[in-house]
Parts: sequence; structure tokens; C-alpha cells
Amino acid sequence: MKKIRTERLIAAPGKRMRLSSHDPASTSPFASEQHAEGMLKKAQKRLFELTEILYAQDRWSLLLIFQAMDAAGKDSAIKHVMRGLDPKATQVFTFKVPSPEELDHDFMWRALKVLPERGRIGVFNRSYYEEVLVVRVHPELLERQHLPPGRVTRKIWNERYEDIRNIEKYLGRNGTILRKFFLHVSKAEQRRRFLERLEDPAKNWKFALNDVKERARFDDYMRAYEAALAATSTEIAPWYVIPADHKWFTRLAVAQVIIEALESLDLQFPPLDRAKQRELSEARRRLRG
Ligand code: AMP
Ligand code: MG
Repeated sequence: MKKIRTERLIAAPGKRMRLSSHDPASTSPFASEQHAEGMLKKAQKRLFELTEILYAQDRWSLLLIFQAMDAAGKDSAIKHVMRGLDPKATQVFTFKVPSPEELDHDFMWRALKVLPERGRIGVFNRSYYEEVLVVRVHPELLERQHLPPGRVTRKIWNERYEDIRNIEKYLGRNGTILRKFFLHVSKAEQRRRFLERLEDPAKNWKFALNDVKERARFDDYMRAYEAALAATSTEIAPWYVIPADHKWFTRLAVAQVIIEALESLDLQFPPLDRAKQRELSEARRRLRG
């Protein structure tokens, strides 16, 4: 059966990258949605099995980071992937504009507080990467962070990339598997989805005038993503550039990356020691009377 070659979606660590050479409309190797029929359901089933073992084994945790432009399908990709995850093993966090309390701390603080426990999957809908994306595109946001003057220099973005790499390395060494997804939507498809949101009363709530303002900075965002992905895609915490013009493909690609990450681990139900085996036989004996 055909499979998406997910290794081709990885942003090469340390290499300059051009998003223009990644086609947002790609659905390779599938010619159309019909050709991938049934695959998402299957993937969701497989994910469920794997997350049950992850939870029972209680050794590893998985952190999934989702970043994208507005209307790239972040929420819907998360929703569909979640359908395949064991709810007791999953924790989702959405990062919005930082609150005054959050601004009174370093930029990692709010994310570090909600990292997934062992045996669980943490899904970040946006993340600390906003600090090198929206804040880089709008550097005036830095002022609200009240950093000491000498700490904000022209090197700040490189320093933040370095800090992020170090923290991710630390997490990796402690048993957190990281997978990061940039949902890559084209500017034309974003426009089409915005118009759809404006025309469909059921989708009006998703729209904010600010989205159109940010759209005007689309190219600046692409530069910020290129720089961030090149600087922070590592072997232990790779970035995947997921084509996002076709939502069915986005969901399938994300699900497949997660399955592959879990399958690369030595997942197994915890072995029963002697005492536990004796306990179970005793329980069996009593239940049978
Ligand atoms: P939405 O996901 O549409 O509800 O929008 C959330 C908004 O919060 C987006 O415009 C993000 O860019 C913004 N946001 C998230 N994190 C940060 C941050 N650390 N600094 C500034 N804005 C942020
Ligand atoms: Mg929005």
C-alpha cells in the first residue's frame, strides 16, 4: 500500500530552507482523496493502540507542537488526530496572546508548566515558537515582556533559537519525544478559506479583522518560519513541513508522523513481576469461587 514518505517533509537540521520549494498543495503519493480512502481511520486505530501502550508503560512522553498561519487547518488537524488518541493519555494546550502574569516571566515559563507527564501525549496548539514568529514579525511585542534593557540586542532571535534547541535537547534526554508540525498553507488557499469563513454564518466566529492584517505580513511570516525551522529542526526534535492546502492530506501526514514516532520506541505493556502474577492468580481463584 502507498505511504507518505514523511522523511521528505523534514526540515533539514541547520540548513537554510526555502518554503517556496515545498509545495503546499502536494498530496504525494496520492492522486486524490479517493486514493487514500480509509487510511485515516486505519491510522487512528493504530494510534489508539500505541497510545494505550505508551500510557501503560509510563516511560516516554510525546510532545506535539503545531504552528501555522491562520486558516491553515491547525485546529481541524488537531481534532482529527485526537480522535485517534486515547483521551486519558492526552493533554491539549492552546497558547494565546500572553497574559500579564505570563509576561512577568520568561517566555518558556507557561509552556514548561504544562509539559506532558510520562505516558502521555501533550498537544501544543501554538507554542513558545510564537516568540520567534509573531514576536519577530512584530518586535514591538518584546517591550511588553519587560526584559532588562541590556538583554535585548540584535542577537535576541539567535539566542532564543539556541535556548529552544537546548531545552528541547534536555527534554529529549529525559524521555520526551518531540515532533513539530508547520502546516504550510498557500496564500491563495488562505484567502479562499477566509472568504468562506466570512460567507458561512457557522464559520463567522473564526474570523477576526486582525487575521487580514496579519495576512498582509504573510511574506514576513514565511521568512520568520524559514529562519526558525532551519535553526531549531534537530534530530531529537525535527520540524515537519506539512502541505496544508488539502486538509485530508494534512491530517493523514500528521497521523503518520506520530505513528512512526511511537513505533520507533520500545513500547510494550509493562512486564508482570512474580508478585503481580501471584496476585492475579489469587484474584482468578477467588472470582471463580
Ligand atoms: P487564535 O489562535 O486565532 O485564537 O489567535 C491567538 C493569537 O495569539 C495569535 O494571533 C498568536 O499570534 C497570538 N500569540 C500566541 N502566542 C503569542 C506570544 N507569545 N506573543 C504574542 N502573541 C502570541
Ligand atoms: Mg485566529
